[in-house]
Amino acid sequence: MKSLTDLTFDNRFARLGDAFSTEVLPEPIAEPRLVVASPAAMALLDLDPAEAECEEFAQLFAGHKLWHEAEPRAMVYSGHQFGVYNPRLGDGRGLLLGEVVNAAGEHWDLHLKGAGQTPYSRMGDGRAVLRSSIREFLASEHLHALGIPTSRALCVTASNTPVWREKKESAAMLLRLARSHVRFGHFEYFYYTRQPEQLKQLGEHVLHCHFPDCLEQEQPYLALFREVVERNAALIAHWQAYGFCHGVMNSDNMSILGITFDYGPYAFLDDFDANHICNHSDDSGRYSFSNQVPIAQWNLAALGQALTAFVEIEALREALGLFLPLYQAHYLDLMRRRLGLTDAAEGDEALIQRLLQLMQGGAVDYTNFFRALGDSAPEQALARLREDFVDLAGFDAWAADYQARCAADDGGQKARRARMRGVNPKYILRNYLAQQVIEAAEQGDYGPVRELHAVLSRPFDEQPGMERYAERPPEWGKHLAISCSS
Ligand code: AMP
Ligand code: MG
Repeated sequence: MKSLTDLTFDNRFARLGDAFSTEVLPEPIAEPRLVVASPAAMALLDLDPAEAECEEFAQLFAGHKLWHEAEPRAMVYSGHQFGVYNPRLGDGRGLLLGEVVNAAGEHWDLHLKGAGQTPYSRMGDGRAVLRSSIREFLASEHLHALGIPTSRALCVTASNTPVWREKKESAAMLLRLARSHVRFGHFEYFYYTRQPEQLKQLGEHVLHCHFPDCLEQEQPYLALFREVVERNAALIAHWQAYGFCHGVMNSDNMSILGITFDYGPYAFLDDFDANHICNHSDDSGRYSFSNQVPIAQWNLAALGQALTAFVEIEALREALGLFLPLYQAHYLDLMRRRLGLTDAAEGDEALIQRLLQLMQGGAVDYTNFFRALGDSAPEQALARLREDFVDLAGFDAWAADYQARCAADDGGQKARRARMRGVNPKYILRNYLAQQVIEAAEQGDYGPVRELHAVLSRPFDEQPGMERYAERPPEWGKHLAISCSS
């Protein structure tokens, strides 16, 4: 275990130089206090969880202090926002403080979000509000606990520094951890600004630091693209299987590592709705729940375009063609598990599609459905779940087919329940829960956000006494409008 002050830095991205990032010092926020910290994320830096209690902790993660070896820099990138190319984005309100090397030799980027203005802030104030910082914190640590690849969050600090959004709010900072902060948009930036040398430098950096196996291949850049396609197929399969809507799948919000990245107006589905649009500003539904699959492929094509500098277009096209079949295979596998099935059978895809179609017309809580389905023997579970469906004849026909499919498994209900509890969370980060703890935190009460974080860090465990966190949303919590203005 390490103390805060003896972290070891090795700032590889900073060493790429001024074409890639600009030196900027964090602008501290007033009277910082710790809102919440993640012991699991602290462990990634070998930090003792008790360190979060030190005064220095809030000081460091609110921009008041810096490690000697930190080299805070704002990264430049561009990207496609809602399908339209924006030539210059970059870290407008976040800084890469440096890369910490842990005892296992892993590099972790320390990125301070909400650290003030940078050359890439455009019209923005460089700040993040408490509300959005808490939302990113909760989601990062929760998705990780669900087994979904994601950036991580070390802590949130709050302040008295005022920030103007639709109304007056207060500034906060989030410390994000990721093995890399390189986005698809980094490649797009150097490609479209016609800087082939820098594009190559970026590519070599990514290959050496994050995809060393690809360097062994005959065509390292093609191998890299293939790997990114594969990782994204797995990632999006997880999102779709667990009902996660990202909300702003712009190519600058897509990580080269294939992890969930840059949380904004995200949501987990409460009642299943394939067409759900979680981003209040997404008028056309470009980033609706079911569109996430084709949009991920669209973004991969945008990345592929930038890689035409290194690879024949036909080879890239072929690699891109792997996305859908790989996605389908991952998704099927995850959904089979969620249904408690232990093997694959011919009609599984249709069985899953029929279930989702039946859910679509009903009032079925997507998370609780699967948990309840495993908690009793199929016959009893199905009889209880039936009442949430509208097409009862359709449901009965599906239930009969599902039961017949389950009968092929001879492990017994006890094993089935244990298996299903391991993949079907009892607790999910519902928007209304986030909203409740945000309102408390805005009043200075951090108890609720800490408790919710603790519950969501063990989403598959029963956690007696915490059942209220598994409840369906109240009427007010069903249609919360979450916009990009964070
Ligand atoms: P996002 O919607 O958070 O992915 O941000 C899109 C772009 O806008 C990125 O370049 C951000 O750095 C920038 N940005 C977002 N909010 C702010 C802000 N409050 N101040 C400055 N830049 C911002
Ligand atoms: Mg972004």
